[in-house]
Amino acid sequence: MTTALGQTAKADPLILRELELICGKPFVSARDIDRISYSRDAFPLTFKWIREGRIAYLPDYIVWPENAEQIREIVMLCNREKIPYLPYGGGSGIVGAALPTRGGIVIDMKRMNRIVSVDEVSLTATVQAGAVGQHFEEELNHLGYTCGHYPQSIRQSTVGGWVAHCGVGTYSTKYGKMDDLVVAMKVVLPDGRMLETRNVPKASTGPNLNHLFIGSEGALGIIAEVTVKIFPLPEEERFLSYDFPNFAAGIEAVRTVMRHDIRPAVVRLYDEKEARHHFSDLLGESRCVLLFGAAGRKCNVEHETAIIDRLAREAGGVPLGSVIGEKWKERRFSTAGLCNILRQRGGIADALEVTGTWSNLHRIYEAMKGAMEAVINGRGEVFGHLSHAYHTGANLYMIFHAHEETDEGAESLYYEIMEAAFDACQTLGGALSHHHGVGIGKARWMRRELGSGLDLLRSLKTAIDPDRLLNQGKLGI
Ligand SMILES: Cc1cc2nc3c(=O)[nH]c(=O)nc-3n(C[C@H](O)[C@H](O)[C@H](O)COP(=O)(O)OP(=O)(O)OC[C@H]3O[C@@H](n4cnc5c(N)ncnc54)[C@H](O)[C@@H]3O)c2cc1C
Repeated sequence: MTTALGQTAKADPLILRELELICGKPFVSARDIDRISYSRDAFPLTFKWIREGRIAYLPDYIVWPENAEQIREIVMLCNREKIPYLPYGGGSGIVGAALPTRGGIVIDMKRMNRIVSVDEVSLTATVQAGAVGQHFEEELNHLGYTCGHYPQSIRQSTVGGWVAHCGVGTYSTKYGKMDDLVVAMKVVLPDGRMLETRNVPKASTGPNLNHLFIGSEGALGIIAEVTVKIFPLPEEERFLSYDFPNFAAGIEAVRTVMRHDIRPAVVRLYDEKEARHHFSDLLGESRCVLLFGAAGRKCNVEHETAIIDRLAREAGGVPLGSVIGEKWKERRFSTAGLCNILRQRGGIADALEVTGTWSNLHRIYEAMKGAMEAVINGRGEVFGHLSHAYHTGANLYMIFHAHEETDEGAESLYYEIMEAAFDACQTLGGALSHHHGVGIGKARWMRRELGSGLDLLRSLKTAIDPDRLLNQGKLGI
């Protein structure tokens, strides 16, 4: 359909009229100002395109439905008229999964923001998928509960976006990731059928259908409603932090804690450079910083912190007190950092979040860091941290920023760095993405990541969306 402003044939009045009949006139737009607003998400390259005055992808219409039935009618219209379409949450995704790469209709979910029900006996809440994370969490807090999902982007992201990217929050080691938290969902399928999965704690009735949509980046269906686990608000929260001589020693300490059946809410190990970036005002001669946070009932927190403290000291950690953790908590939703670099001419930055097992985690860290530094070659820096620890391994954030003379140069440098980083990670058996997803940014590495699994995914897509109208081109499909 459309690729650039000014080249647009005016919106088709019949389509516009039909969308208005479905959603109501105020909730449909084909105005350029809205189309431009929805031409971007938080994919780092979109910052470059904006700086250059480039609009890479432009939708033709934006709609704000109120309920699942309206979404279903929009989907039926798209099928009949062969119009591409995609769901849009908060637009905070970092991999370009919400970019309208084929124009068409953007379905902004944010009018669907109600908590449908809270079951305080079974500890679940059902919420419309367009609810902004912060609002959902605050409403639960008023009732004495938490969803336990606190991504750094909680103020800009929606519950549907969390599910669609299989996100993780900073307290994930205790509460779990989105794939642990989702109990049931209502999804509008690309053929217009409605799928409702069962709200039960577990079933042995074939593959868990929730998992078809968790991480599916809006390419397999539009999530209208989600039922998630909720937890009583913690009585007590306590932070501990330690200075470690190097990253490998810090990884060992985290692994040891995880082997002792301890589930701290927060686990974060910063390498020397990143520790200095975050805590230079608090640290003297510190090296790597390992931070634990325990949350829950007072007696459990006391017990957990006592064991963590003993294990961390035995592993060589020098205690730094609680203030680093408290500062981290205070600043945890600040999102300025890398965005400031992206706004500069020729500046490029990203945070690559990968996963590996305990046996190969440190090798992945070293290999990725070395490969990225070799490409950057003095034009910036690479640093990283571990967060989100599991029984079998953990994730790593490899963060970089670099400068080129032009934004165009920065874009090619970006892909060179990514290529080097992911080659190092995949060679050592690590996973390409831990929670940011694939979108368009990481699509080119999906064949190596999934092997024949990518064909399976493509067959599935074709089976339920034969015209490939729903968010086509994401996930490497
Ligand atoms: C500064 C910053 C910090 C971040 N920190 C974290 C973090 O700590 N943890 C984390 O997990 N992520 C983090 N992210 C990434 C991002 O916030 C998450 O991926 C988030 O889950 C995206 O939600 P969203 O509502 O903004 O989705 P969008 O960006 O709007 O969309 C993302 C994808 O989900 C699809 N989608 C959206 N809604 C639906 C729906 N209802 N049904 C089906 N598909 C849908 C879209 O089509 C798209 O493919 C961060 C991002 C930024 C910019």
